[in-house]
Amino acid sequence: MEDWKKVLARSITKPKDLAKQLGVDEKEIADIVGPYPMRITPTVLATIKEKGDAIWKQVVPESIELDDIDAQDDPLEEDTDSPVPHLVHRYPDRVLLMVTNQCPIYCRFCTRKRLVGKPGFLKKGELDQAVAYLREHTEVRDVILSGGDPLLLPDHLIERILKALRSIPHLELIRFGTRVPGTLPERITPELCEIVKQYHPIYMNLHFNHPDELTPEVKEACGRLADAGIPLGAQTVLLKGVNDDPDIMKRLMHQLLLARIKPYYLYMADLTKGTNHFRTTVETGLRIIQALQGHTSGMAVPHFVIDAPGGGGKIPLLPNEYLLNLDDEGAVLKNFENKTYHYPQPSTTDKKELPMVNTSASRDMCSAGAMDDH
Ligand SMILES: *Cc1c(COP(=O)(O)O)cnc(C)c1O
Ligand code: SF4
Repeated sequence: MEDWKKVLARSITKPKDLAKQLGVDEKEIADIVGPYPMRITPTVLATIKEKGDAIWKQVVPESIELDDIDAQDDPLEEDTDSPVPHLVHRYPDRVLLMVTNQCPIYCRFCTRKRLVGKPGFLKKGELDQAVAYLREHTEVRDVILSGGDPLLLPDHLIERILKALRSIPHLELIRFGTRVPGTLPERITPELCEIVKQYHPIYMNLHFNHPDELTPEVKEACGRLADAGIPLGAQTVLLKGVNDDPDIMKRLMHQLLLARIKPYYLYMADLTKGTNHFRTTVETGLRIIQALQGHTSGMAVPHFVIDAPGGGGKIPLLPNEYLLNLDDEGAVLKNFENKTYHYPQPSTTDKKELPMVNTSASRDMCSAGAMDDH
């Protein structure tokens, strides 16, 4: 197999080459790739079937990216939650470690559009600093390697990072967030798998947005990771004109399961500057979850979340219709076929010990008095 670095080097990064391949306006592209770089790997280029299709929209720059002047560079305020360089510590027991700014492709909707494509990866001194922080923070049991894309680092740097992290006794999980298997499958070499499996438990969450991304080569690459004992999850961003449709989403989830990947998160698009033309309504996401839940394998249903603007973290959403009412008597539920069911509360329960639950449905339907005991 051709060396993955050579394959990556054959990617399209110059407006001139994109114009030649896809017939776009070179000058227009040139204006955009100054602030927001472009890279399209051979695998991704080969998957584009026509102008403006779901793959094209994810990777081909559009002038509209430059019109988004009011939006913020860092809507999730990750920079504010960074105690040492490249580390984001927002949740009690887990952190993100950004190990490189490089990605196999530069997704036009990227939340970290402010960072990706700029030169640089985690330097030795910075890794030492991150490890020192983690060693001190014994509450952290889960590190997510992110970026950019950690699998674009050469093998020896991946090994250096894994080895350093595994020297921290209280650290339990190491996860990779990566788009490499779906865009540069050649990178998933037997050597890489051999390295990674020395440091289990390692999990990987792979980024996929459209069923056409699961080509036979991509599925084989995922299979190599799964054979190395790495549980695979998928993260998907809900994107206008790409996958904002229940049928496309169902096909994607089925393709993921066929590739031995368990759908993990479906994200609402963030408010990042230069990406707002990809946003859909929240209802679009809720309708997609409704179209999946009960209608197909429960394994195929991801958690639908909004990463709250301002650094609130991921907040899960479910269609309101499932829980019509909840009170001391029981829950009134609606199933996927719109049929209503009643689940009674256990009669022996000491009602005072019931956890505080406050659904919008119960607010609407209960008398004000019923809510007073909280
Ligand atoms: C998403 C994210 C995590 C991981 O969240 P999980 O729900 O555990 O997958 C950790 N830290 C930050 C800052 C994140 O954005
Ligand atoms: S691979 Fe991930 S980090 Fe890189 S550009 Fe795409 S969404 Fe952003």
